[in-house]
Amino acid sequence: MQMYKGLPIITNKITLKEQKGIPHHLLGNIELGEDPWFVTRFKQEATRMISEIRSRDKLPILVGGSSYYIDGLLFDQRLVENQKTSEEGWISNREKLAAQHPILNSSGEAMWAKLREVDPAMADKWHPNDVRKIRTSLEIYFATGRTASEIYAEQKTKKRARSPYQDPSLGDVLIFWLYAHRDPLNTRLDKRVDKMVKNGLVDETSEVYEYLQSRLATGETVDRSKGIWQSIGFRQFEPYLQARKENPDDEANLAKLMAAGIEDTKTATRQYAKYQLRWMSTKTLTSLQEENLMDKLYLLDSSNLDTWHQEVLEKGVYIAEKFLTSKESLPAPISISEAAREVLAEALERSNRKDTPCRKYCEVCEKTLLTEELWQQHIKSTKHSKVVRAKRKRALIPADRVPSRALTKVDDDDSNLEPETKTQKIEDENLQEQNLEGK
Ligand SMILES: [Zn+2]
Repeated sequence: MQMYKGLPIITNKITLKEQKGIPHHLLGNIELGEDPWFVTRFKQEATRMISEIRSRDKLPILVGGSSYYIDGLLFDQRLVENQKTSEEGWISNREKLAAQHPILNSSGEAMWAKLREVDPAMADKWHPNDVRKIRTSLEIYFATGRTASEIYAEQKTKKRARSPYQDPSLGDVLIFWLYAHRDPLNTRLDKRVDKMVKNGLVDETSEVYEYLQSRLATGETVDRSKGIWQSIGFRQFEPYLQARKENPDDEANLAKLMAAGIEDTKTATRQYAKYQLRWMSTKTLTSLQEENLMDKLYLLDSSNLDTWHQEVLEKGVYIAEKFLTSKESLPAPISISEAAREVLAEALERSNRKDTPCRKYCEVCEKTLLTEELWQQHIKSTKHSKVVRAKRKRALIPADRVPSRALTKVDDDDSNLEPETKTQKIEDENLQEQNLEGK
């Protein structure tokens, strides 16, 4: 958003004073009426800028909140795009393929059974309900005579063999993640919105609103799903701006809409921060792991502004200096603060779990889970507990007629048990049910 021209408040643009004489690039480049820069355009411009800065023997520093754009610049996404195009390339004629292989017209279950036969590794990846994915894997097999799992594995090896970064001119990378615990962060974000309002947010949104009206007045269709129209603050104040235009004297209503605008802007800001955190701890971290760059990610704890100097400034400068001089002796990222240890360790564990395929079947709920992560989520879910409780209840009603082992009291709070123990227990419960039915 800072790449838009003008609108310093709504886009939270860094002020000249805050820039402290350090040249900032790509700020205020896009006119309001211009198409937004998508990742590819940003990548082009940023790469060009980085080369230019490097050619002057200076250090390019990429700053910003849009992880989506930064990831786009740092990580090679061509593989993902290529995979899609090549899939389409392989399966050029779906109809012809289906005519030759009638199984492609059958049920998801039948296709899954076939896939198990020809490409078990791929079948293991898909849930029997993922009909579209199962079909694609089968189509690849029929069209190329090779299994999809083999082709994907080959692509992955090729990817690893390449330089880790999309563009070698990016050079070596050091990443700082300015992290704050949720509560202090939300308090700070709320304060920021109040400050934006005080500094003239409403006048700015009014400017954007008038501009939008003038374009709409000419009969133009404006795609509001992207660009400046999506900026936090504009949409939230639109009802107020509209009311102010139509009924400028209805002060009570205007005050109400103004308060709602501020509240909604705060909510949207907090939601965006949550989204950014989720993006960072899932997508960015996964990419960093794939590129073996986890040792270049430093989390700086900015939760407490009183310790900003030590926690963020001093630690950041220390690590950056080490990185630029003697790369070998960088401290371990998890060692630099309690928050770093907690957040990074947890994210790593989650990401590893997610990567571990496990295909577990919950017999209680009759549900297949494909990864350890999903399995863990499932057995901790309320839905699962409810089914367990319901089945347990049914099993315990005719207590006097149940084999003695079913009378063993089962501790209701089994949330601390390891999943293996839990599975065992579930199996026991199923046994109880079968026993009952047998009587
Ligand atoms: Zn279950």
